[in-house]
Amino acid sequence: MNTTMREADTYPVLKLHIDGEWIKAGARRTFDVLNPATGAVLAHLPLVDASDLDRALDAADRGFRLWRKSTPEERAAVLNGAARRLRERADTIARNATLEEGKTFAETRLEVMVTANLFEFYAGEAKRTYGRVLVRPEGQRSIVVKEPVGPVAAFAPWNFPIANPGRKLGAPIAAGCSVILKPAEEAPASAMAVVETLVDSGLPAGVCQLVFGVPDEVSRHLLASKVLRKVSFTGSTVVGTHLMKLAADNALRTTMELGGHAPVVVFDDCDFDRTINMLTTAKIRNSGQVCVSPTRFYIHENIHDRFVAAISERLSQVKVGNGLNPDVQMGPMANARRPEAIEGLLQDAVSKGAEIRTGGERIGNEGFFFQPTVLANMSNDMRIMNEEPFGPVVSILPFRDFDEVVAQANRLPFGLAAYAFTENGRLANRIGAALESGMVGINAVVMAAPDSPFQGVKHSGHGAEDGPEGVEACLVSKVIHQL
Ligand code: NAD
Repeated sequence: MNTTMREADTYPVLKLHIDGEWIKAGARRTFDVLNPATGAVLAHLPLVDASDLDRALDAADRGFRLWRKSTPEERAAVLNGAARRLRERADTIARNATLEEGKTFAETRLEVMVTANLFEFYAGEAKRTYGRVLVRPEGQRSIVVKEPVGPVAAFAPWNFPIANPGRKLGAPIAAGCSVILKPAEEAPASAMAVVETLVDSGLPAGVCQLVFGVPDEVSRHLLASKVLRKVSFTGSTVVGTHLMKLAADNALRTTMELGGHAPVVVFDDCDFDRTINMLTTAKIRNSGQVCVSPTRFYIHENIHDRFVAAISERLSQVKVGNGLNPDVQMGPMANARRPEAIEGLLQDAVSKGAEIRTGGERIGNEGFFFQPTVLANMSNDMRIMNEEPFGPVVSILPFRDFDEVVAQANRLPFGLAAYAFTENGRLANRIGAALESGMVGINAVVMAAPDSPFQGVKHSGHGAEDGPEGVEACLVSKVIHQL
């Protein structure tokens, strides 16, 4: 892949998918999808109106009645077929994802593979929805069975344009639910490609609708419907809590994967070079626009200065540019809001005493590029120490003892991911237990795996995606007492 190829020559005509039909814009309103590496318009995305949403709800209602009766083998066959098609189409899907989201082709291609793995895992889970029998005296018994919760409205953000829709679709489809998916309008071709793999693998009409629109209009309309039984959202805590209020008015079950602000505790006995390598890689991933991105770095005072120098050196060498260029290690930020938000956070931090050790600036005057940035001399009154940065910024503070650093790490209302680096097994156990977080990495920075729950606690959300827990969240238990 290289940037000399015509940029948009693989980019598809964007469509909605309702009741088995792919629908072009026609007379509907449209949204301009931009390439974040250039700022140029890639395509016009059709946005739904109220009648499209009513049609989607009606289709989801019928789709659920049909799909809940499917066998586990039928559901597994669709998911396995979609996984195979994702792998076959990986290059095109990944290229379009890079065009619309900005992250490097290596990252988007990996994301296609991760989504294929997830679909295969869910295909297996579809066959493992077990019940239980409680044996009573004299032949009486109670039978506990699992049933699909019902039609689900799912909202997926732009930062993992392939994997987020994959997560939102795989578990409900494995469980026997229907879904109305509204992915981010900023990265629609990736979501469309994921839905295509399912439809082309035999998913019946009505089981999966794909809609784009004005987010607030879509969520208000859908969440008021009596057809729905559940809402699943990934995005900011502010939007998530707003959707929880709408869900409460309609007694809908919720799964919320919300913001984070991941602490990183680096003890002085860590494997220093390996720690720097892992944290550099984790930090530049998708330009820091990752909910589990390491953000607040607490470094033991014995190695603090050495750590600041080493990570600044490494991040200053990162090659930033168009994600289709194979030499590039970090692409642009995904939209114009992100560099603006990062500039605001940096100005605030510097005005309160932060020192910029590397980076701190936008790059060029085309697209939404920002330098990897290291901040030292931080204090808790700075906005960036309290608000999720969602950008390529490392904020570093020294610490001296265990209790002090645990209090700092757990200080915020977030609890999505947390990291620690140490070669001491006992210390690893203690810090793993002490961090208030849905996911903890000890000498590890990859948080997502198909077989493990991806989840937050506190204001970072509730309910898990991935793992058996992801399917469980789409099931309800029914007990039948039989005399
Ligand atoms: P945002 O909060 O406006 O949007 C985040 C996502 O929520 C988008 O996909 C958007 O389409 C959707 N959304 C917004 N309002 C909605 C509504 N009323 N109903 C349904 N969906 C709605 O923010 P943004 O500018 O896109 O991103 C900024 C912040 O969002 C980031 O700083 C980060 O904190 C958070 N975010 C988190 C994740 C994550 O993986 N947890 C992903 C993307 C963004």
